[in-house]
Amino acid sequence: MTMNNVGRPTAPGAAATASGHTSLTGARGLLQDEPLIFELGGWDKTGVDFDPPDHDAYDLGDLVRTAPIGIPGLSEPETLRHYVRLSQKNHAIDLALYPLGSCTMKHNPRLNEKMARLPGFADLHPLQPQSTAQGALELMDRLAHWLKTLTGMPAVALTPKAGAHGELCGLLCIKAAHEAAGNGDRRRVLVPTSAHGTNPATAAFVGYSVEEIAQTADGRVDLADLEAKLGPDVAAIMVTNPNTCGLFEREIIEIARITHAHGAYFYCDGANFNAIVGRVRPGDLGVDAMHINLHKTFSTPHGGGGPGAGPVVLSEALAPFAPAPWLVHGPDGLELVEEARDQAAQTFGRMCAFQGQMGMFVRAYAYMRSHGSDGLRQVAEDAVLNANYIKAVLSAEMTPAFPDGPCMHEALFDDHWLEGTGVTTLDFAKAMIDEGFHPMTMYFPLVVHGAMLIEPTETESKRELDRFCDALLALARAAKAGDVERFTGAPYLAPLSRLDETMAARKPKLTWRPEHATPLAAE
Ligand SMILES: *Cc1c(COP(=O)(O)O)cnc(C)c1O
Repeated sequence: MTMNNVGRPTAPGAAATASGHTSLTGARGLLQDEPLIFELGGWDKTGVDFDPPDHDAYDLGDLVRTAPIGIPGLSEPETLRHYVRLSQKNHAIDLALYPLGSCTMKHNPRLNEKMARLPGFADLHPLQPQSTAQGALELMDRLAHWLKTLTGMPAVALTPKAGAHGELCGLLCIKAAHEAAGNGDRRRVLVPTSAHGTNPATAAFVGYSVEEIAQTADGRVDLADLEAKLGPDVAAIMVTNPNTCGLFEREIIEIARITHAHGAYFYCDGANFNAIVGRVRPGDLGVDAMHINLHKTFSTPHGGGGPGAGPVVLSEALAPFAPAPWLVHGPDGLELVEEARDQAAQTFGRMCAFQGQMGMFVRAYAYMRSHGSDGLRQVAEDAVLNANYIKAVLSAEMTPAFPDGPCMHEALFDDHWLEGTGVTTLDFAKAMIDEGFHPMTMYFPLVVHGAMLIEPTETESKRELDRFCDALLALARAAKAGDVERFTGAPYLAPLSRLDETMAARKPKLTWRPEHATPLAAE
């Protein structure tokens, strides 16, 4: 294990070029090996000049601090460079294709950003009088209208701040509806084995016990198993459509029918709505509640790019239980109703302090308006076309998990084709980094062995898809030709090589302590 210039361990090979050349400083070309801001030192200086206090600092008596405050003191250029260098170590959708299946990493149009920065939206205060924020309320009202129209659902709760938060909102509506009908003793929620982890987690959080629904050999909900598990104690099913194998649930109407026949509700995980937006209305399929990830389907940034938003559309049966606030058209314009009253007297409560992520509403609405309804339909068509192109091209070397028939917006491969090569899905993904491509989603969904889930989205050009496929095919051939080291030690060309990801997840070090800075202290 080598150490970098501030004494932090650097994985072997981290600063070695392909030719084996190693730098003395840990830098790579003009990219410096970046220490933590605390390790940059300068405890006794500051980048800002303060006037001496014009009152007696000793007003504080013996409360005056005698030890250093412990904040790194950096000049303005040092601070700026630190953060710019950090940003260069991050992958971003603005840098290259980001093929994370299920995450829908699509281009975030700059027009949306421009709209979100209009002072009338960006400088709003959540407590300012509603009469002074009518434009913003109108935007929320129009966004709600588009979401209801696109999904064919009569109501929408805008406040949830992520997909998982939307799931919580939907299940709380379902719970409230059962309780209002005297069915509060329904304790089970059924979730397919391929579900995103947030589905069972949400159901458990709401207090339900979770039971798995089996999957058929062609990657879809096993209707017979679903029917066998439905019963008078089932509150809801949570099904994703298209599902996390990238497949449309062909029996979706039947799934809804038998679920309703047993008195349970159908929660649809709408994270994959981008595959069907403008083509299929979930309301027509019998869905009772569905979250929409604005940061996926409607192109608002996610991950490091900002907060998400997960509005939930609701059926007639669940709408009365929707969380506050909601918008009504009053005599003086639009009004946010903050508490239970009138038809909405049965609201289950609130999901957040104010009205949700205004900036995301603006971005999503700008995206909808710039595409129009025909453009949104084409979003779904192109997303599906791109995924099928990848599935077809990569099938030359890799094994699709469900070879029969087309996929929806993501192409799923298993690791069958790696058998006997000594290379695993993880190794293959790490080697992609050396070739300039962010890995696809790995080992999810769990029902597929060594899964590699690739979602190109509609925003990638054919040229970029070809570059991506060429790189993966070349890597696949290298793996089959026995060039195992290229994979097992990868990435060789990233700032850091293999990390102990399990340790990082299980025992994260989130706080810097001076004792970690031994080399500095010794200086
Ligand atoms: C992304 C995703 C979620 C969770 O959404 P967040 O906005 O990340 O909370 C749930 N289900 C599926 C299928 C997803 O892809």
